[in-house]
Amino acid sequence: MKIAMIGTGYVGLVSGVCFSDFGHDVTCVDKNPDKIAMLLRGEVPIFEPGLDALMSKNVEAGRLRFTTDLAEAITGAEAVFIAVGTPTRRGDGHADLTYVMAAAEEIARAASEYVVIVTKSTVPVGTNRAVKKVIKKANPNLDFDVASNPEFLREGAAIDDFMKPDRVVVGVQTDRAADVMAAIYRPLYLRDFPIVTTDLESAEMIKYAANAFLATKITFINEIAALCERTGADVKQVSHGIGLDGRIGNKFLHAGPGYGGSCFPKDTRALARIGQDHGLPMQITEKVITVNEEMKRRMIDKLLDLCDGSFNGKTIAILGVTFKPNTDDMRDAPALTIIPALVGGGARVRVTDPQGQREGEALLPGVSWQEDPYKCANKADLLVLLTEWNEFRALDLKRLARKMTSPRMADLRNIYSVKDAKRAGFIAYDSIGRPAYR
Ligand code: NAD
Repeated sequence: MKIAMIGTGYVGLVSGVCFSDFGHDVTCVDKNPDKIAMLLRGEVPIFEPGLDALMSKNVEAGRLRFTTDLAEAITGAEAVFIAVGTPTRRGDGHADLTYVMAAAEEIARAASEYVVIVTKSTVPVGTNRAVKKVIKKANPNLDFDVASNPEFLREGAAIDDFMKPDRVVVGVQTDRAADVMAAIYRPLYLRDFPIVTTDLESAEMIKYAANAFLATKITFINEIAALCERTGADVKQVSHGIGLDGRIGNKFLHAGPGYGGSCFPKDTRALARIGQDHGLPMQITEKVITVNEEMKRRMIDKLLDLCDGSFNGKTIAILGVTFKPNTDDMRDAPALTIIPALVGGGARVRVTDPQGQREGEALLPGVSWQEDPYKCANKADLLVLLTEWNEFRALDLKRLARKMTSPRMADLRNIYSVKDAKRAGFIAYDSIGRPAYR
């Protein structure tokens, strides 16, 4: 099948590359000429494990192309996917649909034959119907259908998630569009996975409900962790104990510094806004947003405590700034709340991250970037483990402690323990929801 993918970000590029690997003929479009120039040179503009190899394999096979010319890309395409950003709109929490609507209009003007226009971006309930109106207005004679196909991949494991999804959700209005969507995903039928076919509104709602539920689960365990700290319980043991219950499940029960990233913060805000717009406040989601913000602030208090009440003049080493490992994405990362508070409090902040520097440099002024954890820890008063990259999971803690002026550790991902830290010579250790010492 011939497919056009509008937007070559974390979702569009991965989806385009994977569809081409299924055997479809895919053209990826982006309005950012620098991105397309990189892609044409065979370079991947984002860090996503395995993407470069899969991309070059399919370019070489002649199934995958890149262009800035939307009209060229959609000529003869049976389906056009919109995978552009839907960030939070300034001021009101709403998902900003400017890019989606602009893409829809461009597609309408360029299309001339029957095509299914598929929204892969995360969009509020009712958006696909609005997209349909925009297209009809821009090109009244066009024969087309719209479809909602929300994406559930996780950055850092995106290819695997796309190739082996728990489910594919497709919202449609006609059998014809359902048939086109089924043909696109048919290569996946070899694996036994459910394709959930719904109406447009349900598909749109499924995506927000899923993300809000996951954000709630993380926030719930973070709040339990805070109570563990007050009561002497250990949240790792608590997570294990509740996660074995099949009704709860053990995923998304790792306590940490509060969720961040390109999806949970903006999607919870957008769901809260959808509720308000329909006169039905999403009270749980609204509370999750507030509690998560408090969690990030609690982290700053924790670090302040380890610095004896003042950041001024302290040297603080930060391991990891991306919102999670195996991505270079910094959007809404906890680092963006925590590090400015340290710099603002007068600390000298040294930072290391396997992939975060390219994005992070502009977002984190006043920090010094270091090659590795050991250089980062040099003469530091506090070491903060902020993102659980594999590189930070088996550190030589003795070597780190020896390099530091006053070896103290804030392990905000619960990788190490009091025992590990004491044995290595740290004079203080704190983590999330577990025993600490100082
Ligand atoms: P992104 O910002 O990385 O990429 C969006 C791309 O679209 C950019 O390269 C931009 O230049 C391009 N673009 C915008 N308007 C365009 C136009 N008119 N024509 C051509 N290109 C255009 O965004 P992303 O992280 O890939 O997210 C895309 C959507 O997918 C969002 O709605 C997001 O909520 C959703 N989503 C993201 C993830 C994730 O993990 N990142 C997971 C699931 C769903």
